[in-house]
Amino acid sequence: EVVKISTPQMSPAKNSHDPEWINNAEYFIREKLCVWFRVANGQWHLGKIHSTSSDDVCVMLSTNDDVVKVSMEEIFPANPEILEGVEDLTQLSYLNEPSLLYNLRVRYSQELIYSKAGPVLIAVNPFKNVQIYGEEFLSAYQTKGLDAPHVYAVADAAYDEMMRGTRLSIPNAFCAHKKHDLTMHMWSGESGAGKTETAKYAMQYLEALGGGSFGVENEILKTNCILEAFGNAKTSRNDNSSRFGKLMEIHFSAKGKICGAKLETFSLNQSRVAQLCNGERSYHIFYQLCAGASPILKERLKLKAASEYDYLNQSNCLIMDRTDDAQKFHKLMEAFNIVQIPQEYQERVFALLAAVLWLGNVSFKVTDNENHVEVVADEAVTNVATLMGCNSKELMVVLSTCKLQAGRDCIAKRLTLRQATDMRDSLAKIIYASLFNWLVEKINISLEVGNSRTGRSISILDIYGFESFENNSFEQFCINYANERLQQHFNRHLFKLEQEEYEGDGIDWTKVEFKDNQECLNLIEKKPIGLVSLLDEESNFPKATDTTFANKLKQHLNANSCFKGERGQGFRIKHYAGEVLYNTNGFLEKNRDPLHVDLIQLLSSCKCQLLNLFSTKMRHEFLKPATFSDSMNQSVITKFKGQLFKLMNKLEDTTPHFIRCIKPNSNQLPGLYEENHVLQQLRCCGVLEIVRISRSGYPTRLTHQELAVRYGCLLLDTRISQEPLSTSNAILKQCNLPPEMYQVGYTKIYLRTGLIGVLEERRKYV
Ligand code: ATP
Ligand code: MG
Repeated sequence: EVVKISTPQMSPAKNSHDPEWINNAEYFIREKLCVWFRVANGQWHLGKIHSTSSDDVCVMLSTNDDVVKVSMEEIFPANPEILEGVEDLTQLSYLNEPSLLYNLRVRYSQELIYSKAGPVLIAVNPFKNVQIYGEEFLSAYQTKGLDAPHVYAVADAAYDEMMRGTRLSIPNAFCAHKKHDLTMHMWSGESGAGKTETAKYAMQYLEALGGGSFGVENEILKTNCILEAFGNAKTSRNDNSSRFGKLMEIHFSAKGKICGAKLETFSLNQSRVAQLCNGERSYHIFYQLCAGASPILKERLKLKAASEYDYLNQSNCLIMDRTDDAQKFHKLMEAFNIVQIPQEYQERVFALLAAVLWLGNVSFKVTDNENHVEVVADEAVTNVATLMGCNSKELMVVLSTCKLQAGRDCIAKRLTLRQATDMRDSLAKIIYASLFNWLVEKINISLEVGNSRTGRSISILDIYGFESFENNSFEQFCINYANERLQQHFNRHLFKLEQEEYEGDGIDWTKVEFKDNQECLNLIEKKPIGLVSLLDEESNFPKATDTTFANKLKQHLNANSCFKGERGQGFRIKHYAGEVLYNTNGFLEKNRDPLHVDLIQLLSSCKCQLLNLFSTKMRHEFLKPATFSDSMNQSVITKFKGQLFKLMNKLEDTTPHFIRCIKPNSNQLPGLYEENHVLQQLRCCGVLEIVRISRSGYPTRLTHQELAVRYGCLLLDTRISQEPLSTSNAILKQCNLPPEMYQVGYTKIYLRTGLIGVLEERRKYV
């Protein structure tokens, strides 16, 4: 029976991209070879071509011999069985989406979570413990006894590259685009894909490899425990979601030993301290403290159970499966000791955390018909005052009034309920954010060992993944904007620079198309009418509202194909990783992030040394006389953009090693491989194109001079001219290398994978 299958919803990668296949269709029919085809629900099936008519093909399913009719466009050649589950996707004979998906699935089902797509490591989150880490594996990769794709292998390659780059007489010879002897790893993938875990395994490997001399290596991994307690939280996507970005730069001595490290963090999401979505949690540390503090500490901090605090109980989610918060608290205290945070400071940190929790319980009563309020003088506010070391009357005044300058006089104006609540939440957020930054500083002091700036370092970047929820606001916009920039960095390195170099150097090369995201970045960054500029403009306009902002976007940005205005306050952005619907609600307020002078004054009046320190810092940052016209009151998004550009500049100066983390299902379950979900992620990072490029590309390149210097010794005939181009030609000729394995450009020699090894081998025997 022949069933007509309708074209699926998802746009398929057009077969016309694969000229090989068009020529091969006849051959597949004749030889009864397997093909992939897709049915209406988007599922891929394996089958054999039964017969063809002009545009349609009848395919017999491998599972039950049913014959279905599909359009030619929906059919892709399957790879022979012998290639099932290959380590590197570039080894596949036929490159198409179903074959990539299938290959990763086969590997995943055998707990082979790592695969390669040419230069990129693909890590599919197992959501369970897999026995591929620890001592045995660390030493197997160190001794090169194992070379299966693994995050250890990537770390190992980066390390070797770093060491080689500094030891060789011709620096920068062995890797593309190398500018410094710094090497960078980059992690990307959606929330819950495994970036943070993978980053930790990379650190573990580097620690094992570079440990031994300075003692600091044990501290690097321990810092994760602190950072995750204070910067990670349970979200609907990930029970341990990073709510900040981080770059860990590990410094190595000339002998390859770790001699220090530097941690940089980016924009911790502060709103989580005061506001939670249902089913999500605030930062882990609050629950850990409530569950793990000793009775004596609890007494001193006036601490109650997590359920007693409004900041924590608002989301109906206090505990997490498989997580013992009390135990984590003990681990945290150990980590505090390791990074040498003195006992007395530890207790100050805990006191401030307790103060933040009690702040959430501070309540107000309305005193007139204009909704003006005063603070209810209860246990909550007295506890906050005690913990912060301030006068509770003063605290109550600050939380319920704002000072206004009227001529020479300063008058206090009472706040409305909404304003007072915002003021209270602002105080909680600035205390928490300052605490986080202070901890990062302390960690850095402990990681810095003497003069550790040696010029040899490996950095590990782990940033919050792309997010798309039902309701997306300012925070998601910032996160997705950062991801969009990082994606461009990825594209630049893997597609653009690579191909431009080939073309510029006169190499025979068929261009591979890739999805450029410049249009989306223009939408966000273009001046004067990009999203960021428009947001700042509206934020500076006192009468503007979130609705006028939404209208302004629709009015100015409609021409950009990545933008779509929606009804009311909605707008959509077509990001590289998918379309996201944002709501402008809260954008202006969050972008303005007004700084309350009264709060800073309050902090400086406190007996707590940490709070004094925070207030001094804030004063410096915000209240210094404006040397540049607007540096004083830069908006949140402008600061964010500045940080992002600084990060990108830093990344540009390093050789990247990319790891793409893939989330196989949205339920955080082991063993579940949802094809469409995986496909979406493979598409947005252009895995198919990467495989195409690297299969036909030349990963190693040396200038003629570099080749001549390093391998000139291979020449038997020493009469050859000193001119580098002819010397390098002579070397290649003499070595009898297969001509399809290299190309000679105007300035460089381009070698296929593996060829450099052949040359090195020969050099050994000269
Ligand atoms: P976010 O962007 O939200 O921070 P992420 O990409 O950093 O997400 P992780 O926190 O690294 O995601 O991973 C989410 C969870 O997946 C982990 O808590 C862990 O349970 C599981 N996981 C990730 N990688 C591995 C691995 N290699 N082995 C076992 N489990 C893993
Ligand atoms: Mg993370």
